[in-house]
Amino acid sequence: MRRIGIIGCGTAGIQLAYSLKNDFDVTVHHYEQPQDILNGRIRSTQVHFHPTLERERRFNMPAEDSAPPIRSIHFHLGQQKLFTGNLTGIAASVDQRLGFAESIHDLASQGVKFVHGRLKQEDLLELTHSYNLIIDTTGKAGPLAPFPVETGLTPYQAPQRKCIVGYFTGVQPVKPEGISITVLPGNGEMFEIPAITDSGLATILFIEAVPEGILDVFKGIKNSSEFMARMAKVIEEHFHPIFERIDMDRFALIAENAFLQTAITPVIHRPYAILGGTLILGCGDSVFLSDPITGQGCNTASYAAEQLYETLITHKESTWDEAVGIDYWNRTKHYITAVTEWTNAMTEPLPEHIAKLLMQAASDQMTADGIAAWFEDPTKAHKAFHEHSINQPFLR
Ligand SMILES: Cc1cc2nc3c(=O)[nH]c(=O)nc-3n(C[C@H](O)[C@H](O)[C@H](O)COP(=O)(O)OP(=O)(O)OC[C@H]3O[C@@H](n4cnc5c(N)ncnc54)[C@H](O)[C@@H]3O)c2cc1C
Repeated sequence: MRRIGIIGCGTAGIQLAYSLKNDFDVTVHHYEQPQDILNGRIRSTQVHFHPTLERERRFNMPAEDSAPPIRSIHFHLGQQKLFTGNLTGIAASVDQRLGFAESIHDLASQGVKFVHGRLKQEDLLELTHSYNLIIDTTGKAGPLAPFPVETGLTPYQAPQRKCIVGYFTGVQPVKPEGISITVLPGNGEMFEIPAITDSGLATILFIEAVPEGILDVFKGIKNSSEFMARMAKVIEEHFHPIFERIDMDRFALIAENAFLQTAITPVIHRPYAILGGTLILGCGDSVFLSDPITGQGCNTASYAAEQLYETLITHKESTWDEAVGIDYWNRTKHYITAVTEWTNAMTEPLPEHIAKLLMQAASDQMTADGIAAWFEDPTKAHKAFHEHSINQPFLR
């Protein structure tokens, strides 16, 4: 059996291990033990839309049945509710700490080998002697491999948003249950997401703050009580519809580690390279890193991981060389281009025809549902941003 080494055990690495383990000899290199992941800080808001959940079912990955079903997207402009768009399938947010820890145990019980240790770039050459293929899924800390940057898809030199996330109790969910998005033009966005965690249900409040704008007020906050107090103040001042659903006596972070602040500079790499004669492929954030504003990182990682699986199955009997890398990139490039350009556009002021479309959705359910479907299939969003005008039929 051909040997594959996967570096990293997050969204991409885990799906790849599940999909490849029956056809290849798979070893996962990782440095976080399941208990450390569970006890560690929250990592994401991790909405998996239904195409991703379908891929997880395809590869017999563990499902979290108690995750609150996300059926809709509620859209607000400032304090004004514009519309509720229905998703075509149910989405879910399962705390990555829970999902990753469970999957590592499950994969190990199914014979996938795990090697513990944080790899460095200089370890990679030696590793090529042990495998027929290495897959770099080191997330936003990566890549370790020398993948060239795709400059045409990498326009920014700095983060476009500050990402501020907390997992809370005491927020009454929106009805019908779903994601609530509030845009404060010029200042950023608030996403409210129902999720399941190790300690039960939580409401994720996720601010995407334009640097130096009115939401960029969490600098220097170090502990959970300061974070909670600042979040309560920001919601009271800027997000009245959410504030009305908060029971302040119960409003609290679910745990000390249940908050996160980060900022991401989007960068796209060509996802293949040859090192020491061995093919290295990249998957997930290590090669396709975008701002989380459109909630696509996990979904893109899952999409690319499936394409990578299909590529390797197609070339199961042939030599694994650069041509295999080119085939993988050819299969994924259209989707990666769409999700990247749409996501980058969402960090800019909205184009006029999109602003009009949002207003149209307030009185037209088909348009509202079409906008919700962008999140399930970013190629539709990309098409709407780049090809449609308000006078053209809006296709779902
Ligand atoms: C605030 C925020 C909110 C988000 N919300 C969403 C959302 O709602 N929906 C969505 O789809 N996406 C979302 N994302 C993005 C999503 O979390 C990531 O895109 C996704 O987790 C990427 O998966 P990955 O496997 O590439 O990386 P990760 O899941 O980060 O996994 C990387 C793995 O590599 C390991 N690793 C790293 N370096 C090394 C090394 N040197 N040696 C060994 N192992 C290593 C890490 O330990 C980890 O196991 C969000 C991101 C952020 C920051």
